[in-house]
Amino acid sequence: MDKIILDTAGFLAGIENAFPRVYTTAEVISEVKDSSSLMNLNMAISSGKVIVFKPKESSVKEALSYASKVKDYSLSKTDISILALALELKPCVVFTDDFSLQNVLKIAEIDYRSVKVNRKINEIREFYYKCESCGKTYSKYIEKCNICGSRVIKTRRNNH
Ligand SMILES: [Zn+2]
Repeated sequence: MDKIILDTAGFLAGIENAFPRVYTTAEVISEVKDSSSLMNLNMAISSGKVIVFKPKESSVKEALSYASKVKDYSLSKTDISILALALELKPCVVFTDDFSLQNVLKIAEIDYRSVKVNRKINEIREFYYKCESCGKTYSKYIEKCNICGSRVIKTRRNNH
């Protein structure tokens, strides 16, 4: 299977739950501010589900050369780190909603998917599943929590 790379939007949407292993960069991790997402993320990192990877200098250089090719100056340092990671780990699929990043990935011939579609599906769902012990949430029912092995219970989504 191709390696899965997530940017910040991917983690906020909980996409990592759908895969046994995902890759990201320290720049992405530093952008996740939401405390419950951050708690889940730290647990996923310590369990080895999320691999925080530092791209090589040469990959960053290659990423910057693609960025200058598309002349898109809205690409952030985080976007460049994801592109560099993708260049290093390919074949891979990048989950991102950032149009600038999607555009440069296309030029670099790297596969990507939008996160939004999945997020919409999650918002419509009235119920989700939550680990009794660590609080990790799942969109689909599983018997035991992937992180801590505790019971997962059906939880009603609060209306906001
Ligand atoms: Zn748990």
